[in-house]
Amino acid sequence: MKNIVTLIIGGSLGGLTTALVLSRIGISSTILERTTGRTQRGVAIRVAGAPLHNAVGKSTYKAITDILGEAAVRQGTLPHSWWDVYQALRTVALEDANIQIVEGAKIVEVGQDGNRPWAMSESGERWVADILVGADGYRSVVRRFVSADQQHANYAGYIAWLGQAEIPSKYKGRIRGVDFFSGNRELLAVYPLIEKNMELNHFGFGWFDSKHNGLMREIGVVNKDHVLHTPRTEAIPDSIYESLIKQAKRVWDEPWRSGVINAIEKRKIIATPISEYVPNRVVRENIVLIGDAAHAQSPMTGAGFEEATLDAVALTNVLEKHQDITQALEQYELLRLASMRRRVEGGQSFGRAML
Ligand SMILES: Cc1cc2nc3c(=O)[nH]c(=O)nc-3n(C[C@H](O)[C@H](O)[C@H](O)COP(=O)(O)OP(=O)(O)OC[C@H]3O[C@@H](n4cnc5c(N)ncnc54)[C@H](O)[C@@H]3O)c2cc1C
Repeated sequence: MKNIVTLIIGGSLGGLTTALVLSRIGISSTILERTTGRTQRGVAIRVAGAPLHNAVGKSTYKAITDILGEAAVRQGTLPHSWWDVYQALRTVALEDANIQIVEGAKIVEVGQDGNRPWAMSESGERWVADILVGADGYRSVVRRFVSADQQHANYAGYIAWLGQAEIPSKYKGRIRGVDFFSGNRELLAVYPLIEKNMELNHFGFGWFDSKHNGLMREIGVVNKDHVLHTPRTEAIPDSIYESLIKQAKRVWDEPWRSGVINAIEKRKIIATPISEYVPNRVVRENIVLIGDAAHAQSPMTGAGFEEATLDAVALTNVLEKHQDITQALEQYELLRLASMRRRVEGGQSFGRAML
């Protein structure tokens, strides 16, 4: 099924990967992205060589790994910075003749007329295609159409303070891999970030914390059970940052403690309320969900990108195999739904146990 036109809502890791995997079998996509290249969710992404290679094919894989460097090819256990992975995927997608990226297109509604799904932007522009893919993350607009009776992801009951810091030079040679430290209802996950030249100079961290749920509600970030948005750094009172610094001094160890404190002092830290979504359905008519729109999960699973890639591969495989779009998408749901649910529920259990 090559001569079909696909609309992908959301041009982050999930949307870009889907477009690249579809391109491998000659399917063209238009990606409609709300932001203008400044999207970011997460700090660290592990790029597993073989699965990505199988997903996007040899030449695209080479183009991605030429940008990311040796570490991506070796299937290392060390993650890249989120931004490096995003930039690599976006750069390669921009050069792919099968992919068009439209940025600054905030989609407010999707639907289907006959067998043609459509998307409409805030400015009233309308796009029509054969298949529409919702890769628009945890607050998906596309999900409202696909799963009208279960539209919202739920607040997981904790936030992740996300930041990035330098690894102090005296510790550089001693860093081994990703590390986790638990405290009282909190967990620090640290991710040494591998660079193109294989050096480790920075680490990303996620400080998971279930103690500030009241604050999230007070500043209007969490409403009942749902996350409304990620707060700006200035929306958090200084007293909270001060208490985090005190806490870090007491609870976390070097080589990470001073970097975490430094990031908080410079306010280079983002409080990200975590959402979870256990899907009951991910397909309706010719409209399909992938990535966090389909199965927002705790970052503690460390598998959001891997799962989005599995979605992209499954979708591409069914479109390659079936001539009929409805049949193909039914197969996609059959293949992926149970595994999506398991992964989100796994993250929920982990979160409850740790926090
Ligand atoms: C705190 C945190 C830490 C994480 N850590 C990891 C990790 O260590 N490893 C890992 O594999 N994964 C991690 N993840 C998850 C991972 O980033 C995602 O699962 C993965 O990137 C797939 O996301 P996505 O592209 O489906 O959604 P998103 O990354 O949420 O992207 C959605 C895109 O859609 C766009 N969009 C949204 N609404 C609209 C609209 N109405 N119109 C147009 N565009 C729209 C957004 O601007 C965005 O670009 C983490 C996530 C979070 C929140």
